[in-house]
Parts: sequence; structure tokens; C-alpha cells
Amino acid sequence: TDPVAFDVVSEGLAEVHRRLLPVTDGEVASYIPQLALADPDDFGIALVSMGGHRYEAGSSRTEFTIQSVSKPFVHALALAELGLDEMSRWVGNEPSGDAFNAISLEHGTGRPANPMINAGAIATTNLVPADSPAERSARILDALSAFAGRRLAVDEEVYRSEAATGDRNRALAYLMHAAGSLRTDPVEAAEVYFRQCSVLVNTVDLAVMGATLANGGVNPVTREQVVPEQVAVEVLSVMATCGMYDAAGDWLVRVGLPAKSGVSGGLTAASPARFGIACYSPPLDRTGSSVRGVVALRELSRRFGMHLMHHP
Ligand code: GLN
Repeated sequence: TDPVAFDVVSEGLAEVHRRLLPVTDGEVASYIPQLALADPDDFGIALVSMGGHRYEAGSSRTEFTIQSVSKPFVHALALAELGLDEMSRWVGNEPSGDAFNAISLEHGTGRPANPMINAGAIATTNLVPADSPAERSARILDALSAFAGRRLAVDEEVYRSEAATGDRNRALAYLMHAAGSLRTDPVEAAEVYFRQCSVLVNTVDLAVMGATLANGGVNPVTREQVVPEQVAVEVLSVMATCGMYDAAGDWLVRVGLPAKSGVSGGLTAASPARFGIACYSPPLDRTGSSVRGVVALRELSRRFGMHLMHHP
């Protein structure tokens, strides 16, 4: 470790954490009843370098469900199995400019716009080869665990809460099934997706997961090659254009990193060949991303010159 760099990064995270802690904007998601129980004051930041060093501030070890931050990692698993050409026949790579739960299906084919919105994520999840929904869920949990570098588990209460209120996602699955863009049973397809969203993580896990994509698919902590390098490149590209939903353009301008947010308040971003960085803070903005998370990343991006388009 370089002790000077360690202090600079740690102090940067601590300072941004301290300054943004009093921010009270945003609303905790409540359309999934269990998510409404989250503590709006929880705020964690974590950064993981390509050397596997972890830098943390605040409640970086508080657990929460991964929700949509799972999408790029399951996309990576499906891409590793199917390859980009086959994958693209089923799910597009175009930003939709719509909300995360929009009915964004291509005219005629029913193909969802991209794997980061719910429709595309449900389709992607169900492209993971398996003989049964249970086996598919197990494969997804294994993959998310490999990205995080530790054994993860499903929060059964959040899963039940999500399944009990998930009619909109089931409706998306039915529409895709009717159009021929989803080949598995729509109800089972939604269940596998709900379980994927209910996997428990902490902020450090999300930073390790982002760092694995930044590191060409190799987990910088365990050194495991989780997905091929080319897959990591493809997933980061989709994150850059679609990861922040209808705020993806503004995010790219202001932060300049591929990223993915979720409704529980988690957010992960990747700086290729440099680090993964993550935040957790439950209050969300209009587009369904963490208010503190977005501001923290804007500020840290400036401070550390993280923007991809920045001249070094
Ligand atoms: N499980 C959530 C849903 O499908 C995930 C959405 C999100 O995190 N943006 O509604």
C-alpha cells in the first residue's frame, strides 16, 4: 500500500461523507413495503482499488438488498454464457430515456430497450441457462457472490414483500412473453428476478463488484476471474449509457463513470483500471437513484479527476 494515497483517499471519502450527512432530500422507496423500513440516515461510501485495498466511510457495512444494482452483474453472467450477438437478439443495448419500470419494448419484436430497465433485466435474468427457476436463482446468487468476493444470501422478507407487490413486473414479463421476447413462464421469470433483487449486500460489496468490472472481470480481492475481460467491457458500456435510467446523460456529463443505481439506495460505479466506488443512502430522487449517492459521486469525481473524458 501507498500510505500517502491511502490517507488522501480515506480523507476524501470521510470529508464528503461528513458534509453530505445532513442532506435530507429525497424519499425512501415505499412501493415495496419492506424497503420503506430502511433508515434514511444510513449513509455509507466505499472505494476498492485494483490492488484490492478497501477505503470506507460511514455505514459501509450496513446490509441492504441489492435491487437494480444486480442488473449489470446478471447481464455479465448472461453475456458470458450467450455472447453479445445472441444476447442482443433478445435484449437491446439502447438507452430508453424512460423510467426504470417503463414499458419500453421495441415495436413488433417486444425486445426490451436495454438490460438495465426492469423489462430488460427480467428478460436477461431468464436468459441465464438453467433447468429450473430454482437452479437459475442459485446460479445468479453464485455469480453475485463471486463478484462480491463473499457468500451472499437472499433476504426472504424483502423477497416476499416484492413478490406480493410485483404486479407491474409480472405484467412486463407477460407482455414480453406475448411478444415472443421472453421464452420462460412469465410468473416464474418474475420470481427469479425478485429473488435476484432481494440479495443482501453492503456498500463494500458493491464497491468490490464495481471494481471487478473495472479490473477486466477479475475480482481484485479474491483474484478470481469472474467473467471474461470482453464481457466486463460490454457491461461497462451499457452501464455508461443506461445504468442511471432517464438520468444517464446528466450523470455521464457530471460524473463520467459507468454506474448502476437501485431503489434500496445502493449505487456502484467503476473507473476502468482504477477502482470501484459505491454508496448507500436510502432517500431517492425522482429517477430512483440515491440523492446522497449521486451528489457524493459528483463531488468525488471532481476531487479525484475520475471523469472518463477527462484529460489525464
Ligand atoms: N426490484 C425493484 C423493481 O423491480 C428493482 C428496481 C430498482 O432498483 N430500480 O421494481
